[in-house]
Amino acid sequence: MDFLFDFRKFVSKVEYPYHCIHCEGLDLGIREPKHHPSYEITTQCNLNCVYCYSRVALLNKTAPKPGYYGDLNPKAITISQYGEPLLAGVDRVAKIIEVLRERFEDARIDLQTNGTIDFTELNGLIDIAMISLDVSNAEIYKTITGSNKFDDVLENIEKAVDMDCIVTVRSVYLPGINDDELVKLAEILGEIGVDEHFIQPCSIYNECLQDLQKLSFDLERSESLYDYLQIVYKCNRFVKAVIPGCIKVVLDEILKQLEDFEDLKFVRRGAIARNPPQIRRDWKFVID
Ligand code: SF4
Repeated sequence: MDFLFDFRKFVSKVEYPYHCIHCEGLDLGIREPKHHPSYEITTQCNLNCVYCYSRVALLNKTAPKPGYYGDLNPKAITISQYGEPLLAGVDRVAKIIEVLRERFEDARIDLQTNGTIDFTELNGLIDIAMISLDVSNAEIYKTITGSNKFDDVLENIEKAVDMDCIVTVRSVYLPGINDDELVKLAEILGEIGVDEHFIQPCSIYNECLQDLQKLSFDLERSESLYDYLQIVYKCNRFVKAVIPGCIKVVLDEILKQLEDFEDLKFVRRGAIARNPPQIRRDWKFVID
C-alpha cells in the first residue's frame, strides 16, 4: 500500500491509551484541563532520566509532598506522577491501594513506574500498569537513565503481561536520540505481548536542555508533529501504538482544518515546557 495513504489513514484513526480515559485533557471545552487525581508516594527515584520533569521539580522545589491530590469522587487515580512509587516498598504501595479502593470503590487505579522493581505482588490491585522505557538496549538505556537496569525493566514488563491488568509501556520520543530505538523497542514489545505502546512527544525543561543536546537531541525536530506521528506509525507495525489523548483531540481538530494532509508537516508544537512541573490539584489526605 502507498506509504502516504497508509500513514494518513493511521493518523486519522490513531487511538489514545486506556490511561487517558476520564482525563479532563480529552475535553477541549475545558480551558485548563487537569491530569487525573493522583496519590503521591515519594519524590525519590532510582533513575536519573535526562529529560525527567520529576527531577526538575525536585531542583525547583515544586515536587509534591506525599498524599492524595484530587476530588473526592475520582474516576481514575494515578500512582504516582512524581518519583518512583515502588521505592517505598511493594507492600506499602499495596496497602495504599487497598485504602484507596475502600474509599473510592469505583476508581480505576493506574500504577506509573519505571519498571526497575518487581511489582507482581500488586496483581489484582491495579487496573493499568504503565511502565516507562524509551529504548531497546542496555547501552543507550544507561546513557538516558544513568542506570544498568535495562534487563530488569524488560523482565518486569514480561512478568506484568501475566498479571490481571492492562500493560502499557510508556516511551518519550527524543528525536536524534531514540528514533530507531523506539521502533526496535516496539518490535520487542509486540513479541512480549504488551497491550499498548504509549508514545509521548517530549516536553523539555530548560534545566534538561543542555544535557539532552550533548546526546544529540534535535530540538527543531522535536517540534514537528509530523515527525512524531511517523515514529508512532512505524511502531504500530509491531504493537498497538497510541498517543496522548490530549494530543489526539487537538490533532483531530487540526486534521479537520487542513486542506492537504501534507500541510501537517508545517504544524509545530512547543517542545519547551512553559510552566514549572507541579501538581494542579489540591492535596486532600495522606494514608499512614
Ligand atoms: S496524556 Fe493527556 S489526556 Fe492522557 S492522562 Fe495525560 S494529560 Fe490526560
